[in-house]
Amino acid sequence: MGSAFTLLLRRCRWLLFLLGTSRLALAWDYEFHRMVNQLALRSLPADFPSWIREARTAERIAFLAGEPDRWRNMADPTLRHINSPEHFIDLDDLPLYGLTPATLSPFRHEYVGQLTLARSQDPARFPGADPTRDPEHNRWIPGLLPWRIAEDYARLQSTFSSLKTYELYGGTTDEIANARANAIYVMGVMGHYIADAAQPLHTSKHYNGWVGPNPEGYTTNRTFHGWIDGGYLHKIGLKIGDLSGRVRAARSVWERLPGASHEHLFPVVMGYVVQQSEGVERLYQLDKTGGLSGDGPAGLAGREFLSGQILRGSQMLGDVWFTAWKTAPTDTFLQSQLARRNGGEGK
Ligand SMILES: [Zn+2]
Repeated sequence: MGSAFTLLLRRCRWLLFLLGTSRLALAWDYEFHRMVNQLALRSLPADFPSWIREARTAERIAFLAGEPDRWRNMADPTLRHINSPEHFIDLDDLPLYGLTPATLSPFRHEYVGQLTLARSQDPARFPGADPTRDPEHNRWIPGLLPWRIAEDYARLQSTFSSLKTYELYGGTTDEIANARANAIYVMGVMGHYIADAAQPLHTSKHYNGWVGPNPEGYTTNRTFHGWIDGGYLHKIGLKIGDLSGRVRAARSVWERLPGASHEHLFPVVMGYVVQQSEGVERLYQLDKTGGLSGDGPAGLAGREFLSGQILRGSQMLGDVWFTAWKTAPTDTFLQSQLARRNGGEGK
């Protein structure tokens, strides 16, 4: 068991102490979040702006892959209220609300309204929240992960729009540098969420041991999630060099949903999340047959599956970055401001 995993367990115990039985800071270990961002960078084609390949920029994007988990280490309930549910969605809880991936509103607040409406229409189906065990006031939310990804895509497109406009219409050196720094920040942080969705346990109520009826006799061990996040991968020694040769060039994210309206990315994101959720039971089966033990040849059976998930996350991230940059329009309002400034006063 690697030292990072030990560290994770220690952090989890601290949070247990702090929050009772809260959904904990469960996520790919930092090393594997970094790996997803780094592999996504390698997927960017040669015509993507070259500044992205500078060593300091690449390191910054890799570092930012861990930022949303650092937010989770803070006790502030307002931060935890919004941040915690952004790391997962329990798709198997949606039927309880009469919802499916196809009927979810692409708008975050409308989705919360959908949840609230279902709860008010049939309160008996939803046990009342115990406020003493819900200091973040979010325990009832089945997750916000797809909304966060779709919103970050829009943020990134906006950032690229500003950057293109500064570059084309007389932005100063400082303005261009600042706009690039903004793009780097959004790119790095959003990589966290896309990688979270590639960990199938972030898409299910069975996120940390099987819950409820269990005819297959899957593990109910509450260390399962942490083992998938990093313990196993550390034990088998997965390194970025094992995967970098398997990354394809980034392409339009819209190719994932031909015929989709390009109004917002949410349906594409949901398609990606649903696809990853298909791996939930596969993980439990692998565990049951010893494929996640890391011991002997049989214990390496999970290696290819989890490597594939890390690659899926990286490709999705690269496709999202690439598409946001390619399709970012010029910001006509900013363009007019720059024209007025530069026309009137010169540069
Ligand atoms: Zn996370």
